[in-house]
Amino acid sequence: MRIHIITYGCQMNVYDSRMVASLFKGEGVEETDNPEDADIIIVNTCSVREHAERRALGRISSLQKLRREKPELVLVVIGCMAERLGDNIPGADFFIGPRKYDRLPETIREIVSSKQYAVSSPSGIVTLLNSSASTGQVTFHPIRYRYRVNGINRQYAVGSMRVGATSRLRKPPHPYPEPDRGVTAFLPVMRGCDNFCSYCIVPYVRGKAVSRNPEDILDELRYLKERGVREVALLGQSVNEYRYGETPFRQLLRMVDKESSGVRIRFLTSHPAYMNDELIEAIAECNSVCESVHLPLQSGSDRILQLMERRYSVDEYRHWIRRLRDRIENIAITTDIIVGFPTETEEDFKKTLDIVRKTRFDFAYMFMYSRREGTKAAGFSDGVSLEVKKGRLERLIALQNGITREKNGELVGKEVEILIEGKSRREGLPMGKTRTGKEVIIKMQSEKCKVRNVKMGECVNVYVESISGWTLIGKTLE
Ligand code: SF4
Repeated sequence: MRIHIITYGCQMNVYDSRMVASLFKGEGVEETDNPEDADIIIVNTCSVREHAERRALGRISSLQKLRREKPELVLVVIGCMAERLGDNIPGADFFIGPRKYDRLPETIREIVSSKQYAVSSPSGIVTLLNSSASTGQVTFHPIRYRYRVNGINRQYAVGSMRVGATSRLRKPPHPYPEPDRGVTAFLPVMRGCDNFCSYCIVPYVRGKAVSRNPEDILDELRYLKERGVREVALLGQSVNEYRYGETPFRQLLRMVDKESSGVRIRFLTSHPAYMNDELIEAIAECNSVCESVHLPLQSGSDRILQLMERRYSVDEYRHWIRRLRDRIENIAITTDIIVGFPTETEEDFKKTLDIVRKTRFDFAYMFMYSRREGTKAAGFSDGVSLEVKKGRLERLIALQNGITREKNGELVGKEVEILIEGKSRREGLPMGKTRTGKEVIIKMQSEKCKVRNVKMGECVNVYVESISGWTLIGKTLE
């Protein structure tokens, strides 16, 4: 039996897809890159913007052809859309939202068991079964399920019948997902969010903020190190809000730093309302923690920030940027900005341009406001036309992209340390990132330039010679 996983959205979804793959592997189900070879297809979805939902729905719809050709194929939708829309999403068999991820191991067992039974049953009736791994007892779990007879009919069944023979109680190989991104990996330290920014769907679909036990985080870090991971990004929707008992995020960073032994540490996404001097001190003092902070601004207008319920002012935001830059030399600051929030005027937007010009972010993710049903902002009367939103986004992107290029260009003629992560897409040249997250390609050996071979996961010193687009080009230094 094989699964194919399609992932949309954020780093947390990338991690969750790996977790799902590991759990299936524990049930003896291998992964395939080819959807046509799969018996089970998982679509891991994102609800943050309407565009992301449309893409996932389009993909689910295009998979229906495969379902018709292969009636025994099971299609499972997980992620934020599964939480938000559930079985209103047409064309899938199972829906598991992030709020029910604690049930993932059982649900995956159910899917595998029901699938095995579905294949062997002459009647085609599918039964779901819920197994308790700790006691080995088999119990029945009534659940709504779409079943097929002779690969044609599809109906909903509620309830279950005994099919004990299909029960298998295998232990997952390891509680953590296997890293599959080469020498870099994600490590969630908390899940969910309690901030309820007025535009954001995340608290509704991912539930309240829950921080992980630091011992568990350190254990997963050791697991990643043993598998050759050289850079770990600690993840949380509002990561600097992390608190487990008496352990705040700054202390977690220090604990992770002690355990890292040469592994680079990043963290994202930070919320300006939870920045503090002690955290900045921890970032500065922990050698493994990279000089890079992602701090979403969202808007340069206090009026809009208030409507967004972000709980900081533009002045407070600028204060934290100054503190970070004063304490940590050459720190890279990246951000997120939304344009066209309901009621945003040209004056509000110009304030955003102004802070972008003054702050000179290293990079920014810039978006048009996307109305999300169920959020507070969905009830605001908009008043900003699509045309105006598009125009503002273009102006903002033009400004920020110019700044990004200039800031990257400042590294030309300098020596930087990069971690080799892989090969460049176009030319297949060794490629890595600086501690500040900037991409550097190492040029090939030539008569003029002798470069030594570099290995994945190696940290090398590179002399930056030029810039192409935003990408830096360099040569290794002996
Ligand atoms: S902090 Fe705000 S924007 Fe970020 S996930 Fe939480 S509610 Fe959404």
